[in-house]
Amino acid sequence: MLTDTARQPKPGKAHRASERWRQELVDAVRSPTELIRRLELPEELVAPAERAARSFPLRAPKPYLARIRPGDPHDPLLRQVLPMDAELKTHPGYSADPLAEQGERSGSGVLQKYAGRSLLIATGGCAIHCRYCFRRCFPYNREAGWRTALDRLEAEGAPEEVVLSGGDPLLLDDQALDACLRRLANIEAVRRVRIHTRLPVVIPSRVTAALARHLGQTRLQTVIVVHANHPREIDPEVGSALARLRTVCSAVLNQSVLLRGVNDDPATLATLSERLFEVDVLPYYLHLLDPGAGAAHFDVDSQTGQAIWAELARSLPGYLVPRLAREEPGAAAKTVITPDAP
Ligand code: SF4
Repeated sequence: MLTDTARQPKPGKAHRASERWRQELVDAVRSPTELIRRLELPEELVAPAERAARSFPLRAPKPYLARIRPGDPHDPLLRQVLPMDAELKTHPGYSADPLAEQGERSGSGVLQKYAGRSLLIATGGCAIHCRYCFRRCFPYNREAGWRTALDRLEAEGAPEEVVLSGGDPLLLDDQALDACLRRLANIEAVRRVRIHTRLPVVIPSRVTAALARHLGQTRLQTVIVVHANHPREIDPEVGSALARLRTVCSAVLNQSVLLRGVNDDPATLATLSERLFEVDVLPYYLHLLDPGAGAAHFDVDSQTGQAIWAELARSLPGYLVPRLAREEPGAAAKTVITPDAP
C-alpha cells in the first residue's frame, strides 16, 4: 500500500514560497465527503467513495482538483481520483501484484526488471492516489529505504542507468534528492538517472529553483518521465514547471495509461501530445492498463487500444505519437504493441 504523505514534515506559517509544495501535499483532500462537496457533485457519490477509500485511501491535491469541472461526475480528471464501488469487484486476471514485482528480491529497495537498468524504490508515498495504479497494493513498508538500496547498488555493481521510482521519488526533499544523486554520480558505471514522477503534473510547485539546480548540477544525464493522461492536466503552471525541468535535464518525457472514460479517444490523446510538445515534453509511452486489483473498470482492450493508436498515428507527426505498450511479468522489456508511427 502506498504510504501516507501526511507524515511529511509540515512547514511553519512563515514557510517560504519554495516550500509551497509541502503545504499543498499536506493539504491534499483525503475525505470523500470533502471531495464531493468541493466539486459540487451529487451526494449519492459519497457512500460508494467512502467504501472504496477504505481499501485504497483517497488523496487528491488541490492544484489538481482546481482543473476538474465542478458538477461533472464524468470529468476525466475526477475519474482518476474518485473512489468508486467498481473498485471493490473482483475480476479474473486482476491481482494485487499484476507485474510479479513482489518476488524474491522484494524488500531490497531495488527492482531488477530489465537488463541495463536498476529500478530503485525511492519512496513509498505519492502526492495523488490514482485509482488505476498497479502498485496500489505494493508492500512499500517492507522495502528498504533509498539509502540502503544505494548501499546495495554500490556493493553489487550498478548498471548504466538507474531509475528512481516509487511511490514518487520527488517526494524526497531537495537535500535528500541531492544526496541520492551525488551517491549515484560517485558510482563510475552509472551514466544516466531517470526519475519517474507525477508530482510536476499534480503539484507543479514541486519544481523549485533548488530542485532544478540539483538536477542540473549532477554529472549524470537526467531524464524525467512525468505522467499525464489528459490534456487538461497540463495547465499553465504545470506547463511552466515542465518547461523549467527541460532547461536542466537531458530529456523530459511523458507516459500515459490508456484509461476508459479518461483518454480513450484519439482526439484527446492528440491534444495531449500537442500540449506536451508546447512545453518541451515528448510523448513516450501509452500503456495498456496493468491488471491491478480494483482497476478493471478502466480497461481498454488491446484491440480497441490499437485502433485508437492507429487513428492517433494518422493524425500526428511520428515524433508526437507515443509507443503503445504493455508490461508483461518477467519480460525482458516492455512489449511494444505497434511499430513506430508512420
Ligand atoms: S500511478 Fe504513479 S502517481 Fe499514481 S498512485 Fe500509482 S505510483 Fe502514485
